[in-house]
This record gives sequence, structure tokens and C-alpha cells, in this order.
Amino acid sequence: MKLWLKIVLVALGLILAAGLYLFSEVHSLRSEQLTKDVHVIFGMGGNVGVLRTDAGTVIVDTMTLKYQGKRIRRVAEELTGKPVVAIINSHYHMDHTHGNPAFEAGMRVISTGRTLHHIKTVDSDYFSGEAAALLPNQLLENRQTNTVGNKTIELLPTGPGHTDGDLVALFVEDRVLHTGDLYFNGLYPNIDLEAGGSVVQWSAAIDQALELPFDRIIPGHGEVSGRNEMLQFQRFMNQLAEVGRKAAAEGWTRKQTQQSAELTEDEGYRDVKMLVFTILDREFVLGRAWDEATEGFELRN
Ligand SMILES: [Zn+2]
Repeated sequence: MKLWLKIVLVALGLILAAGLYLFSEVHSLRSEQLTKDVHVIFGMGGNVGVLRTDAGTVIVDTMTLKYQGKRIRRVAEELTGKPVVAIINSHYHMDHTHGNPAFEAGMRVISTGRTLHHIKTVDSDYFSGEAAALLPNQLLENRQTNTVGNKTIELLPTGPGHTDGDLVALFVEDRVLHTGDLYFNGLYPNIDLEAGGSVVQWSAAIDQALELPFDRIIPGHGEVSGRNEMLQFQRFMNQLAEVGRKAAAEGWTRKQTQQSAELTEDEGYRDVKMLVFTILDREFVLGRAWDEATEGFELRN
């Protein structure tokens, strides 16, 4: 075979493999049942909580693409036998909200006011035209109890942590808590300082969530867990804040901070990858701790 032909065939093979990989990542959804009425759906993006009520299905978060939203809707309705009647968005990030436009226009979409503010600031192009009908339309600032059919959902904004608009959702009767990205289980978290998030205040936000009566947790990313794993994550965040304080006090550079060995509570943590790109790792979180401690970032309004 001619050399050029071999090169073309290898290149075509690589493109095909990449395409198949991309397709399977976007396409694959996996679900797990937690109680009679609660499921979680895992896929490329934040975990989706699914609550069956006798008045319809409520979901928390919608992943990264409209296409995924369509599939989430189908899977959730198959799992519960009830149409989706409400969406709760834990925070504004696209891997938790971009599936929204796949749902019924005008349905109840709940978030904090800050979450809607951030979406309008950074994501108004995506949520324009028909998609605007799936922007949050029921906003809360304080703790709120919602009744949907035979179920109670307690919504608690937890203040600055992952962003300044985070909320956690408790499925009261089922004792399951969806934390959004306030909690990453066994993974390095994103820390969105620009949207008012805070390494320093994160632990206090977790404390508020821990006061709620739940047995199991659906984290924003990672597997379902109990309280102990979230307490471990809280120790990690506390230590990270401590490293940031020390770095600022001793005048470490960002690079020195990123190479610090003083962060030990991350043992066993895995990097977060989006397709083939590593987006969150140890260097990232240490860099963010330095950014906050030295005020080396720009808060978005
Ligand atoms: Zn997030």
C-alpha cells in the first residue's frame, strides 16, 4: 500500500474513533435507585436527582447539552411513570443547566436569584429564543419548603461555597439530599471565585447542609454517599483554606502553592475530565486557594 494511503486511512480511523468516543460519552446515561421514589442519573455533567411524586416527577439539574436533557427526560419518566413537572437548578454552571431547554416550555424551574443572575450574565446566548422559557422562574433567597403532590422538598441556599448561588435540595420523606456542586465525592472540585464562590467559606456552607435530616447524598459529581464522605470532603476544604492562608502569610508564589505538599486530605481524589481534557486537579484547587487568599481574581458582578 502507498504511504500516503496508509496515512489517510490511519487519520480516518482516528477521526472515527474520536467521534465514537464523543458520541458514547454524550450518549451514555446510567441510573441508580436510592429509595422507592428517588433515583439518580449519571452521565457527562452533574448528577441528576429524580423524585417521583403523585403529581409528577421533579428533577434536580439537567446536565450539559439539550440532547442530554431530552434523554434525561425520557429516562426519568420511564423510571417514575410520571411526567417531569418541575426542575430545580442547584447552581448556574452549564453542566447542570444546559439540558433545561429539552423540557416543557414554561414549566416550574426553581433556583436562587443569584443563579438566575449568573445565567443571564454569562449564558444569555444559550438561554435566548425558545430556551428562555426554561430559565429559572421561581426564585428563592432563603430556606423554602415546597410541596409537590405527596412529597416535600426542602430547598436551602447555603451561601458562598462552589458559587454564591448554590442551593441544596432535600427530598424530605426519602431522606435523600442533592448537594449540587457544594460536594464532589472523591474528586477535585471546581471553585468558582469569580461567581462569588469561596474556599474559606465553603466549610460553613457544608455545615448548613449537614444540619438537614438525610441518610444518603447525591453529590454534584461522583458516586452516591452517606455523611462520612461529605465530612471527609469538608476536612479537605478546611485544609485547602489553611494552605491558602499560609501561602499568603509566607508570600508563596502561585506556583509554589500549587506544589505544596501540605494538602494531604485529598488522598485518593481523582481528576475531573471533560472528554479527553483534565479540567480539575490538585494544581487547580491549590491555585484557587492562592487566588482567594491573595485576592488574585476578579469578582464578576
Ligand atoms: Zn458547578
